[in-house]
Parts: sequence; structure tokens; C-alpha cells
Amino acid sequence: MAQQAASGTGTEVALTIIIYGSSSRDPGNFEERFAGSGWEQRRLELQLRPRIPAHATASMDAKNKWMHDFLMSIGPDAKHSRNWRCEFCRKFARETVWQMASWLHLPQPMFTAYVHNMCDAKVGDCADALEEVDNMMAAQQGAPKSNVRRRMADRSADDPQYPMSATCAVCNNEDVASRKNLMQCGKCKVVRYCSGQCQKDDWKRHKTFCKTVTDVKWVWNK
Ligand SMILES: [Zn+2]
Ligand SMILES: [Zn+2]
Ligand SMILES: [Zn+2]
Repeated sequence: MAQQAASGTGTEVALTIIIYGSSSRDPGNFEERFAGSGWEQRRLELQLRPRIPAHATASMDAKNKWMHDFLMSIGPDAKHSRNWRCEFCRKFARETVWQMASWLHLPQPMFTAYVHNMCDAKVGDCADALEEVDNMMAAQQGAPKSNVRRRMADRSADDPQYPMSATCAVCNNEDVASRKNLMQCGKCKVVRYCSGQCQKDDWKRHKTFCKTVTDVKWVWNK
């Protein structure tokens, strides 16, 4: 899919978001999945071209803050894009962990986010597996790990259970998660809803994503 980049003033950012996860048909654990050669990790690759408004380009801090707020606002679009299972096991994903790599200081700013669909990113085998991915990323970037991983939302001490990625982006009703195909936004073909009403209710929020996405590529066939 290719669309015209959204027009307007401000500084355009070449934003890449790569969302990782699995399906119910994949091997049950991470080691098994990658044991053979040529296994391609299931993912969705998004290209977006948001524009940082002039008032937010005064400093690096301002740019970073704007980018963070932008990513927070499109979090549901990324999370509810498929009936995602955990990247490391076969359980339904409930949490998304975002790793960010920023080149906002460049004359033509770039930004990459890697999104991990997880059953539980805090405790257990999958949390340990994510820790390894974090360490790899940090080593590659030569950055301390704490600079690599950012959670979209602060976890409270009582470790709440988040809605499944497989549910509708608006009502988060888990009864609809088992449906084969939820409705997709017809324009971007990314975010999923249980009904026209939920889609309508979400447009005010979702249009930010919908109008800035320029390419959607699924790496899913197997
Ligand atoms: Zn898991
Ligand atoms: Zn709904
Ligand atoms: Zn859309």
C-alpha cells in the first residue's frame, strides 16, 4: 500500500514501526521457533510520516517529548492490529514493549520503534527472553539498556492485567478476541474493531495514525 504522505508544515519524520508477535500455529517456545534455518519472525512493518510542528522543534527535549506523545497516541493502532500472540510463546499477547532508536537530531529526522507483543513482560520465561533481546539491542547500539527499552505505560506495583491485543481497539471486549476477523479500518487496514460504532467512536483518535501511515507490510505467510 502506498499513499501520499500527509502534507502540512513542520518537520517530517521518517518513522518506522516494526511490530513482532506470533500466531497460534507457531512453535510453542522461542528456541524451537528459531532452531531451524530461515524462520521469519512474524511481524508488521509500518512506515509513517508524521510532522513535528514548528512549536515543538525548538530543542531536542521538545522534539523527543512530541515524539513520545505521538507514539502514545497511536499505541492502540499498533497493539490491536492483529490477533497477536506473544512473541515468545503461544499465549495471547496483552502487553506491548516498545524499544526506540532515535535520529531526531538529523536534518531529515528518522525514528524507529520495535514493538514486542508479550503475554507478560515483567515476570516469567518470556520476560527473560525479552531481557536477552534488550541486551542484544543495547550491545548493537552501544547504549546502556535503560536507554533502549521504554514501556508505553508505567506498570503499577500491583501488576495489572492489560487487555488482549486480539480485542477491539476501543471496547477491549475479550469476547470478540476469538472472532476470526474483526473489522479493519478500510483506509489503513491496520487497526481492528468489533463494530462500526467502535470505529466511529475511535476516529478522532485514530485519524492521527491513519493520515500519517504511508506503507503497511505484513511478514506473516508461513
Ligand atoms: Zn509469552
Ligand atoms: Zn468494540
Ligand atoms: Zn485507519
